[in-house]
Amino acid sequence: LELVAGQFVSALGNARAFEAERRRAESLAELDRAKTAFFSDVSHELRTPLTLLLGPIADVLEDAGPLPPGARDQLALALRNGQRLQRLVNDLMDVASIEAGRATAVRVGTDLADFTTELAGVLRAAAERAGLRLTVDCPPLPRPVFVDPRMWEKVVLNLLSNAVKYTFVGGISVALRDTGDGVALTVTDTGIGIPVEELPRVFDRFHRVPGSLGRHREGTGIGLALVRELVALHGGSVTVTSEPGRGSTFTATIPYGSPDAEGDADHPVGP
Ligand code: ADP
Repeated sequence: LELVAGQFVSALGNARAFEAERRRAESLAELDRAKTAFFSDVSHELRTPLTLLLGPIADVLEDAGPLPPGARDQLALALRNGQRLQRLVNDLMDVASIEAGRATAVRVGTDLADFTTELAGVLRAAAERAGLRLTVDCPPLPRPVFVDPRMWEKVVLNLLSNAVKYTFVGGISVALRDTGDGVALTVTDTGIGIPVEELPRVFDRFHRVPGSLGRHREGTGIGLALVRELVALHGGSVTVTSEPGRGSTFTATIPYGSPDAEGDADHPVGP
C-alpha cells in the first residue's frame, strides 16, 4: 500500500510540474504576442509624423532657392538620418506583421538570376566607395522561381549591405545556384566575421554582436531577423558560417515554388 501511495504522490507531483510548465509556456507565448503588437503599434504611430517631417525637408531642398550658408548641408543631414529612421520603422512593421501572421508572399514567376544581378548592382557603388570588390555570379537558372519580388529584394539588399558594412578589406561575392528543387543565394564577405558562440543569435530580433563595429557604426539588429522571416515565408531557410577575422557566408535557400505555393504552411512563423 505504501508503495502505491508513493507512486500516486510522485505521479501527482509530475502532473503539477507539467501543468506549471504548460502555464509558463502559455504566458511566454502571450508575452511574445504582446511584444509583437507593441512593435506594430509604435511603428505605426511613428510612420505618419515621420512622413510629415521628411516631406517638407525634401521639398525645401529641392525647390527653395538659395539657402543660408550651411543650411543645405544641415537639412540634407537631417533628411538622410530621418530616412534611416523611416527604413527602420518600415522593417519593424514588416517583422511585426509577419510574426502576427498577417503577411503573405505574393509570388510571381521570376528570372531570379537576372533580378538578383540587378539587385546586387544597386549596392555596387557603395561597395566600390568602401574600396571593396563586388563579384556577382548568377548564371541562368533552368526555370523561373516563384518569389515575392519586394521580399526577395529585401533579402538580397539586407545581406549585401551587411557584407559591405562589416567588411573593411577585400571583397564580397554574391552567387545564385540551382540546388535541384530550389535555389541557394550565397553572400560571402572577407569581413570581421562572427564568433562561433554568436552565430545562433544573429538572426534574433535586435541582437547585435557585442563589440562588432561596422562601417558608420549604425545598425539596429533588425535586418537579419527580417531576412529570416521573409525566407521562411517562401518555405526556405537561411544559415551562416563565419570565421572571426576572415569573413562570413550567409546562404538563403528557397524552393522553386509555384504561383499559389503556400511555403509558409510547412514553416510556420510567429507565435
Ligand atoms: P544590424 O546590422 O543592423 O546591426 P542585422 O540584424 O542585420 O542588424 O545583423 C545583426 C548582427 O549580426 C550585426 O549587428 C552584426 O553584429 C552581425 N552581422 C550581420 N552581418 C554580418 C556580416 N556580414 N559580418 C559580420 N557580422 C555580421
